[in-house]
Amino acid sequence: MALSRRRFLAASAAVAATPLLSFAADDKPKKLVLIGGSMSHGPGDHEFNAGVKLLAKCLEGVKSLQVEVVNNGYPKDDSILDGAAGILCYADGGGGHPFLKGKNLERIGKRMASGVGLMCAHYAVEVPKDIGATEFRDWIGGCYEHEWSCNPMWSPEFKEFPKHPITNGVKPFSIRDEWYFNMRFRPKLEGVTPLLTAVPNEKVRNGPYVYPKGPYKHIQEGAGNPEHMMWCVERKDGGRGVGFTGGHTHKNWQDDNFRKVVLNALLWICKVDVPTEGVESRVNDDDIKANLDPKKK
Ligand SMILES: [Zn+2]
Repeated sequence: MALSRRRFLAASAAVAATPLLSFAADDKPKKLVLIGGSMSHGPGDHEFNAGVKLLAKCLEGVKSLQVEVVNNGYPKDDSILDGAAGILCYADGGGGHPFLKGKNLERIGKRMASGVGLMCAHYAVEVPKDIGATEFRDWIGGCYEHEWSCNPMWSPEFKEFPKHPITNGVKPFSIRDEWYFNMRFRPKLEGVTPLLTAVPNEKVRNGPYVYPKGPYKHIQEGAGNPEHMMWCVERKDGGRGVGFTGGHTHKNWQDDNFRKVVLNALLWICKVDVPTEGVESRVNDDDIKANLDPKKK
């Protein structure tokens, strides 16, 4: 970022004398669109709209990004996605996934084919097995499959991380969330780089899961195996994809490491350099209480 900033300053100096001089293409901020899904649970959980607003606030200092926020699901006019380098979808998934409504899968597919980055967080990593799963494996490397994957509330211990821009500056952490695991990844994890990995204990595997309560025999039989709760891919079309299964509990955004790994990923999908120590941001008590959904009637 430092280099690009210096170039920006040099270009600004030149502008004074040459008003028509345009900046080099790579000096223009990259557009990141954060899509927050429509209201799901009561206040505090699945806070998709408050969540994307909070993430946008945390990215205000990143001059190489131009962040746009969309609330309540897929944009009514999706020209807001034109020119986007990356898209985050943080929303309810399954059959109600915003990308499955109408012709959205096809519309998003065209953007993916042109190399746009995509990150899906929490429930938005889930699509029905026969609608969208093939696309999601292609776009982000894997997805939640009903009754194959599971969704317990637990506290994975993330102790070590692969060397990757998304893990820049992330310290070991553990936080309770509805961390889904056992995704339906591409066969043999082809092209998939696991980023957040931990070993669930027996109690976690035995359930109950949030829904359906389980337990599933195949999950119990995986005792001792590491599981991936965040991962990324670099697609053949040039685009980048990330899946992140946490994000149920809104107050978790106040945890510096939980937040940093997601902010880093948002830069990475846009092909913006991630600072060596990761994206620095602060979230105070007022920030975390802002924009929450109203109580469900
Ligand atoms: Zn959830």
